[in-house]
Amino acid sequence: MKILVAVKRVVDYNVKVRPNSDSSDVELANVKMSVNPFCEIAVEEAVRLKEKGVATEIIAVTIGTAQSQEQLRTCLALGADRAILVETDQSVEPLAVAKCLKAVYDQEQPDIVLMGKQAIDGDNNQTGQMLASMLGCAQGTFASEVIVEEGIIAVTREIDGGLQTLNLKLPAVITTDLRLNEPRYASLPNIMKAKQKPLATHTTQELGVDVSPRTQLLGVELPAQRQAGIKVNDVAQLVDKLKNEAKVIS
Ligand code: AMP
Repeated sequence: MKILVAVKRVVDYNVKVRPNSDSSDVELANVKMSVNPFCEIAVEEAVRLKEKGVATEIIAVTIGTAQSQEQLRTCLALGADRAILVETDQSVEPLAVAKCLKAVYDQEQPDIVLMGKQAIDGDNNQTGQMLASMLGCAQGTFASEVIVEEGIIAVTREIDGGLQTLNLKLPAVITTDLRLNEPRYASLPNIMKAKQKPLATHTTQELGVDVSPRTQLLGVELPAQRQAGIKVNDVAQLVDKLKNEAKVIS
């Protein structure tokens, strides 16, 4: 069984993001970049399925700039067998990513596509659903447990107020939620070995995919600063302030 894992290079989750000098986008210069946390969970799940003897090959794929090779090497160190970079300097929207992933899917014919439920930069939560729709295949989103048995995947999903379990036919797209697993750290020997693993590069033109944007980013700004709190002397003063200053009660 072949697993394709889609991973995105994003600003590391520990970095406090801020707008660039003209507020046209998020500042990316000299900022630590990492594998999107939900994609790390997807890689970990693929590795666990390989360790259980369910999967035979794991291919990590990303659509992004040449620097995204760093994140693909991380995935190779974590246990992916080979990697594919679909190189573009454009910032790609979920629709463009899904189209590129479909082109890679058509070439590789994996049984499962594992992805994050969302990328922590754009918070779109769209790509997995779009890809499953383009492939016309089953999808299990927000997975907190994945069990593969005889051509069926049981995916337990975190939904409002509880858990839902779906049986999916292969091939299927699965997107990962936080509680699916806890990703391992790459060991030093595996980081060294990852340097020798195959990493192929394609352009979006080679895949025949138009990645031109459908939306325009107008600007980014920080949320308004919270005002400092004040101390009131008694309940009467509190009620007065809520009524006459904050105007939240009448
Ligand atoms: P999003 O729909 O942007 O929130 O992303 C959801 C998931 O789609 C991510 O966790 C990745 O698995 C995948 N994805 C999004 N963008 C990319 C990309 N540029 N390259 C590869 N996979 C991506």
